[in-house]
Amino acid sequence: MDTVSQKVPRPQIRQTDCFIGGKWIPSASGKIFETIHPATEEVIAQVAEGDKEDIDLAVDAARGQFDGGEWSRLDARERGQLMFKLADLLEEHADELAALETLDNGKPVKDARAADIPLVIDCIRYYAGWADKIQGDTIPIRGDYFCYTQREPVGVVGQIIPWNFPALMVAWKWGPALAAGCTIVMKPAEQTPLSCLRMARLAQQAGIPDGVINVVPGYGPTAGAALVRHPGVDKIAFTGELATAKIIQREAADTMKRLTFELGGKSPNVVFADADLEAAAAGAHLGLYFNQGQCCCAGSRLFVESKVHDELVERLVEKNKQQVIGDPFDPATEQGPQVDEAQFDKILDYVGYGKQDGAQCVTGGKRFGNQGYFVEPTLFTGVTDDMRIAKDEIFGPVLSVLRFDDVDEIARRANDTNFGLAAAVWSRDIGKAHRFASQLRAGTVWVNCYDVFDAAAPFGGFKQSGLGRELGEAGLAAYTESKTVTIAVS
Ligand code: ADP
Repeated sequence: MDTVSQKVPRPQIRQTDCFIGGKWIPSASGKIFETIHPATEEVIAQVAEGDKEDIDLAVDAARGQFDGGEWSRLDARERGQLMFKLADLLEEHADELAALETLDNGKPVKDARAADIPLVIDCIRYYAGWADKIQGDTIPIRGDYFCYTQREPVGVVGQIIPWNFPALMVAWKWGPALAAGCTIVMKPAEQTPLSCLRMARLAQQAGIPDGVINVVPGYGPTAGAALVRHPGVDKIAFTGELATAKIIQREAADTMKRLTFELGGKSPNVVFADADLEAAAAGAHLGLYFNQGQCCCAGSRLFVESKVHDELVERLVEKNKQQVIGDPFDPATEQGPQVDEAQFDKILDYVGYGKQDGAQCVTGGKRFGNQGYFVEPTLFTGVTDDMRIAKDEIFGPVLSVLRFDDVDEIARRANDTNFGLAAAVWSRDIGKAHRFASQLRAGTVWVNCYDVFDAAAPFGGFKQSGLGRELGEAGLAAYTESKTVTIAVS
């Protein structure tokens, strides 16, 4: 794990324009938007605000590059080598990228350096290794024919990402797309465009040909929507809110684009009485409060068997009291601000709903300090399944603790949501944990751990938490089309 021991200096911001066809250019309209540092609310950069015209240019560049075949038909090993080079450059710039992430998103630099950026590098390396291992099958069909399948890149992909893990979402999207031989138009989130633009520059330095990666910063309903509607785009990969995904699904129907979605969650984290309680408390704390609670897989419904409820809550309260909140550039800081005012307001609204609905606010529940979008780590007990804080995704440091006695009922309660992204179970009885894992309707189940991510392990949602999978071989497959070739051999 990479650690940070001293206060990290603010990084220089180098790229703020659109990156199209290998060139850095202002938006066609000349418009810009501001991005802020959420710990101080100060403006840190003015970024080109792309719209339809810029998307058109970027899609032309990606389409030209794809159809020209320089990238998609490049020797697969060479494609992999260029990706390895990119991973090396990301590693060389890891401190700078982590600091950029902290500046734009507000996350503690300790986390950005120990988690986000190492995962970024690993993801690009993992998929670099796949570039020359994408193969089809031979199929024994009837008659005098030789039949085989080959996997080809899906084409030009539009990638729309959120602000909670800005650089990591770039890696999850670029890795499989580049390995498969696709070309890319990416729209980063308007709150956090900086690390994506920096990574595009590093990709250029790595020698990835012009037009393979294009980045258009801007807003969702303008730049994002233009990308979704563009007939020259073959696939949209989106991570964000369910409501946005529904708009995208409708908009993409006209051109029958391939879609992958990674959306929200209200993930159940279930602690049985026979669990290692310290491990469960640490896992529950990490599972919800990591990244200021801004994780789509956050374990926001903590179900605790009654017998151990009070003891577990006590341990969690203690952890919340000890949580170091403050300047995210300070390496001692464990919790930074929420990303922006809208998120901050929404979280405090939900704290109000929790109180109105009769839950007990045991820790937190208010703003921390008087500058920046900090929210105290908040814990509600006495939460019941029907309360708004137990049903809706809050995307902040607000944990709902629910009790259970009936072990047979708990799978039903855990599954009683339209989401199905992740879940966790804590028990020393591995047979019970296995049985329970098989009953959960979720794309990821962690047993006696939480938030364990690996580029090789597929991630995605059941139900309304998503469509398709990212990471692993499944994530790569989503960037390919299968072609069946049948040859008469008589
Ligand atoms: P969040 O509330 O977490 O920001 P969103 O779904 O609103 O989640 O945003 C995720 C990404 O989707 C961002 O890059 C945003 O700009 C983009 N986006 C928002 N609305 C649209 C839209 N109508 N079409 C395409 N992209 C959109």
